[in-house]
Amino acid sequence: MRILVSADMEGATGVTCPQDVRPGSEQWQRFRRMLTSDTNAAITGFFAAGADEVLVNEAHSTMRNLLLEELDPRAALLTGRHKSLGMMEGVLDADAVAFVGYHAGGGQPGVLAHTYLSTGLLQLRINGEPASEGRLNALLAAEAGVPVVLVTGDDLTCEEAAVWAPHARSVAVKTCVTRYAAVCLPPVRTAELIRVAAAESLEAAGRPQSVPRGPWRFELEFDATQLADACTAVPTVTATGPRTVAFTSERMYDGMRCFRALTQVAAAAREPDFD
Ligand SMILES: [Zn+2]
Repeated sequence: MRILVSADMEGATGVTCPQDVRPGSEQWQRFRRMLTSDTNAAITGFFAAGADEVLVNEAHSTMRNLLLEELDPRAALLTGRHKSLGMMEGVLDADAVAFVGYHAGGGQPGVLAHTYLSTGLLQLRINGEPASEGRLNALLAAEAGVPVVLVTGDDLTCEEAAVWAPHARSVAVKTCVTRYAAVCLPPVRTAELIRVAAAESLEAAGRPQSVPRGPWRFELEFDATQLADACTAVPTVTATGPRTVAFTSERMYDGMRCFRALTQVAAAAREPDFD
């Protein structure tokens, strides 16, 4: 069995503020060890449960966060940017997928809650429902017939995962107090919780699951008009309001790629503060 671990950072052990996940900062240097620890715990659990291969795909920011020299030597690491499926690169070749270090979606309560853009994108909705990265990625995995077996992050991420990945094990490594505050468990504790959950999670991998069918209507609500205006340059994308754009896709595979392209267009249209 081949397991993909999609490793984001905002939901890693101990992470509570933007500096913790900003590449190059002193705090990021510290927290990349925590993310590596969470990831290693999942890898240990998966191999204990009989996994043959584990590929870890970096899913945060520059996608260069994990410490390869400290990674469990039985796993392999896909590091770096410009992958067509981004956070989910490798899912089409996997038998099961784990979301490590995940977080709540934009506009929702949760530690460092956001969807792709930390500012600018207020909310992503898919067929009218608010969608976090976890939900979006779970839909893509389900379309590919790949079960989500493990989710780690704050308690609110785990609560939400019970909806979009009902058979997955989840581990709350921290309890959200505000967007930038949480009650955190030390890495020794979270590693043990993640290891045990990962080992138990593969039972869910063999379960038949229904394949979600499109069409999928993506709606992006921005906090400024120029972000929506910029996105309308992309074919099939139309304005649905002064700050919202939408497009429809038959397959989640195409929807995900178009959404990711729009986040890059919108990110380029953000302006410096002028207040
Ligand atoms: Zn993320």
